[in-house]
Amino acid sequence: MKKLCSVLMVAVMSLSSAILPAFNASAASISNSSYPEALKYSIWFYDANKCGKDVAVDNVFSWRSACHTTDGSDIGIDLTGGFHDCGDHIKFGITNGYAASILGWSLYEFKAGFDASGTTNKMLSTLKYFTDYIMNCRESSTKYYYHVGDPSDHEYWGPPEAQTGSRTIKRYMGSGQGAADVCGLYSGALSLMYLNYKDIDPTYANKCLTAAKELYALGKNNPGVGNADGFYTSSDWKDDMAWAAMWLYVIEKNNSYLNDANSWLPSPATNWTMCWNDMKLAVAAVGASATGDSKYKDALTSSMTFWKNGVSTSNGGLKILDSWGTLRYTSAQCMLSLVYYKLYKDESAKSFAKSQIDYILGDNPANMSYIIGFGSNYPKHPHHRAASGYVGWDNWKSPAKNVLTGALVGGPDNSDRYTDETDKFTCTEVGIDYNAGLVGAMAGMVQFYCDIPQYTNPPVTPTPTNPSIKYGDINNDGEVNAIDFAALRQYLLGIPTSNLNLTAADVNLDGETDSLDFGIMRRFLLGMLGSLPYRG
Ligand code: ZN
Repeated sequence: MKKLCSVLMVAVMSLSSAILPAFNASAASISNSSYPEALKYSIWFYDANKCGKDVAVDNVFSWRSACHTTDGSDIGIDLTGGFHDCGDHIKFGITNGYAASILGWSLYEFKAGFDASGTTNKMLSTLKYFTDYIMNCRESSTKYYYHVGDPSDHEYWGPPEAQTGSRTIKRYMGSGQGAADVCGLYSGALSLMYLNYKDIDPTYANKCLTAAKELYALGKNNPGVGNADGFYTSSDWKDDMAWAAMWLYVIEKNNSYLNDANSWLPSPATNWTMCWNDMKLAVAAVGASATGDSKYKDALTSSMTFWKNGVSTSNGGLKILDSWGTLRYTSAQCMLSLVYYKLYKDESAKSFAKSQIDYILGDNPANMSYIIGFGSNYPKHPHHRAASGYVGWDNWKSPAKNVLTGALVGGPDNSDRYTDETDKFTCTEVGIDYNAGLVGAMAGMVQFYCDIPQYTNPPVTPTPTNPSIKYGDINNDGEVNAIDFAALRQYLLGIPTSNLNLTAADVNLDGETDSLDFGIMRRFLLGMLGSLPYRG
């Protein structure tokens, strides 16, 4: 589940290099009012990793400006934009897609938290930087580029603005180039942008939806995982395509998408959490809300139990799933926990998230905030080239010249010790995937712990379908066709008719036979809906 690194450095953290600050700088100050500020900072981090010509536009960091402005020029395609991955400058499709998906979902799920903290516009602007890039990399409806950069990037230590040399490796998804994992994540991110943006700029939103469908078709027609030069070796593409399918279902209520999701992901349960390589629980959370299918809730409940009882806990209370970048997993699980709380009002899920988020913010034995810039005691040596500044390899382990505000570092070990050294990247590196779950979790914390208006989307409780009923076959002739449509019209106009099957006419399963059913019958017969019944 790890990012492989070209330099296999020892991940063991020595006690001699670990630090335990002697003063309590932030733990005492953690309160509900901390969450809006932490949310704001966690979004800001993305400004530090922006790439392309427009980096300086709407950027909170004065030390960032345009970089890699010729990406793609050697093949005659503009591949500028997007986000650097972690502390390096490669643009990986899988982490750009994952981050854009989770950030978009965060805004969709916890809009009230963003609104209350005044961060909605910044979040939308950041999301648009992602979606502009994805669509900028479209060469045709069947060819999108998703990867720019090569491993030689790691031989350079300095700001992206000063990096010279060509970025020779570009990869695309298209005919014979299966990268359905990236297609799925990109498609989901674009569908979410449609949902988040349709009331702001319908033209842009519709452009996103069109691209989401193109990428969906591209992934469906070219299965397989993408090539990331061994850094992010995805284990499967089906969970990612199920993610895309679920959001298209949310938008269009076309059962064909649900059928695809079910075929790709018959069981969404996993003993891990949401990450760039595992979207099963994210699919489960959206599926639980959109369909009410118990398998989705069961997967989420099982995951909550696993994290409470099956994941090891440090003495200070941190849940540690993996030693490499541990806080990214914990943050992601916090986001899932708060979505679970939103769906089912399970107080233990809410308090789980609070316990872990408060730890991250400074309520821990090291009295240290693991979000840079938050509180007064936070990491000073993030593994991040732009934050290091113009130092080069000779001084690359010096304290960062620039404060990488909002970045979530990999985090402490299972003894609650944090090694604040630039080269200990398992604990000091940051990433666009790390912060994504954190943003979602923090928005949920604002939404549920701060005194703001609450909005909830209770899960759908579907009316069971009756297998003996052929929905839409109102005249009981074994067919669903225009005769049924005419019969339903007559019934609704009050024209006496006989032998109508009004149960079969209730095609949206709401217990009534009315004009809503008439509209659905019309759309079904026009080929706009995949099947009946239809709960839209
Ligand atoms: Zn760049």
